[in-house]
Parts: sequence; C-alpha cells; structure tokens
Amino acid sequence: MKAVIIPQPHVLEIADLPKPVIKADDDVLIRVTSAGICGSDIGIYRGTNSLATYPRLIGHEFGGIVEAVGAGVSSCKVGDHVAVDPTTVSATDSYAIRVGRYNVDRSLRVMGVHRDGGFAEYVSVPAANVHRFTGPFDPALLGVVEPYTIGWQICERSGIAAGDRVLILGAGPIGSCAMQIARSRGARVIITDILDRRLERAAAAGAEVTVNTQTDDLDEAIAAFTDDEGIEVIVDSVCRPETLRQAVLTAAPAGRVVCLTTAADEVALPAAEITKKELTIYGSRLTRGGFPRVIAEIEAGRIDPSRIVSHHFPLEQAETAIRQLIENPADMLKVVLDF
Ligand SMILES: [Zn+2]
Repeated sequence: MKAVIIPQPHVLEIADLPKPVIKADDDVLIRVTSAGICGSDIGIYRGTNSLATYPRLIGHEFGGIVEAVGAGVSSCKVGDHVAVDPTTVSATDSYAIRVGRYNVDRSLRVMGVHRDGGFAEYVSVPAANVHRFTGPFDPALLGVVEPYTIGWQICERSGIAAGDRVLILGAGPIGSCAMQIARSRGARVIITDILDRRLERAAAAGAEVTVNTQTDDLDEAIAAFTDDEGIEVIVDSVCRPETLRQAVLTAAPAGRVVCLTTAADEVALPAAEITKKELTIYGSRLTRGGFPRVIAEIEAGRIDPSRIVSHHFPLEQAETAIRQLIENPADMLKVVLDF
C-alpha cells in the first residue's frame, strides 16, 4: 500500500509499505478515503515540529471505510464510514485522568506526530478510536471530521451556548470550525481575518459579521454587534502574542477567552484587566468526546464539513499539496488528500 513518509525534514516519500493486518481483538482495519493536511504535518515536513521523530508516517486527520474488524469489535462493522480519533492515552491514573481530562494527560500520543499516522491507504487502529457514521457519508470528507472536534472542544471548554456573542480571531480552518460549531449551538459569531476570501467563506458558512482587521475597525464592529456591551467570548485562533493580548483587552467584563497557541513564545498580558473584569482564560487542546458529537451534528445537517475544504489532491501529490500550502497559504483553507 502507498503511504506518505517523511524520512527526514524537507524530504517526502510515497513509500510502498505492507498493508497492516488485524493483530488484536479490538483492532479495526480502515481503508482510508481522505485525510486533511494540518499545520503540524507541515511542521514535520519543515522540521519545525518539536514533538515529531523521524522517519514518520504523517497524518492525524483521516477517515475511511471499515475493511475488517478484530474478533472483539462490536462498535463498528465492515463497510461503516468512519472518522478516526488520532490520540491515545497510556496512563490509567493521574490528576488529569481522574477529573476526566485525559486529552491533556502527559501520556497522550498523537498518530502522525509521536507515532505513525493516517496518510496511508490502510490503517489499523483500536476500535475505541473509531467513530462511525450511522449511514454512508461522502468518503472525500471523512478526513475533515477531526478539525471540527477541535472546534467542538473550544465551544465546550468556554461553555458557548445559545445567545452568546462570540468573537473568533482568525478565519482559518480551526477558526472556521469553531465558528460553525458555535453557530450550531445558537451563538452569534463575529469573525476576523486579513484575507477577504476567508471572510467570504466564513460568511457563507454562518458568520454573522466579518471584519478584515487590515481595513475595518474591529472595536467599532464589536460595539455595533453588542450594543456597546462588549463581547463575552473571544476565541484566539490567530495565536500571535498580540492577539491574545488584544483578546484580554477586548473581552467584556465577566468574559471568557480561549487560548489555542502551541508556540513556545512568552506573551506579555495586561494582567490587571483579567482581575478587573474577572476574565476566565481557557486553554483548549484536541478533544475529549468530540467525535460522536461532531458526527451527530454533521448527520443532522447542522454542520457542513465541505465548508472548510478549499482543495483536493491525490495522495501521490502530497508533497505538491504541502509545498503549495507553504508557498500560497492565503489561497488555501483545508487541503484534503484523496485516496
Ligand atoms: Zn490537525
């Protein structure tokens, strides 16, 4: 079978590997039909992802059709359309696990980063990582469920609910997924970017107000959107030091801010604003329990995952796709590899 291997930074090979087989009773063999390229895949290709080791079969956003199941699997069956949760946790007891927050446990490992991933024609994973659709779903979109689970976690962490007014900084794939999940919960969303094309897409996908921060005044837009009350939830998907600072300054008294950065940079914050306004700042990482919820939203028609996809490439052109994402990120949103 074909698989995308990064043997060392800046080198990508379409390797021919043996097809995986069912080894354990709870294994599920999946014929992968589509996979999304993420910033972390690009980081592994460029050698800037500090978590990755080489050689690495990359890819953590993927899904497909069940090809075979181990003897002990009852949660899915051959032919099911599925999305795969790429994370595993090996520890069984820690503070994070005791309070139900295994997605941040120290033993967490992500397929495609710490261990081999999903940019392959076949992948074998434990049944617990496999989440099925109740019926057939577009195989070309099974690979983009994962980024919506990140959006779901953002909304879950910050308690986004009907009637909330939410500012999302950045209309890239994660900002857009968070926006769509927030909309599906009945929140109202204002979203920013510096690229009009991304804002047009966000508006088509449900954002009520779009603001190009290079040409429009965000403070004025927020004042109009909230009748001068200020915005109660701010999600920073731009993840630059100045955007987190801006979120703390902009949030309404008693507001909530979601931080998503994975960069190592330290950020100077106006701490007295956090005190004065009693802000709550949430970190949000990966997901816990998001897959079944996102699939239910997609099947109910409340989320359309095609909204974040801008390009499809065949698996064989993975390197071209990654290079284009590096060279022309402005033209692209989520890029999907088709198998
Ligand atoms: Zn990702």
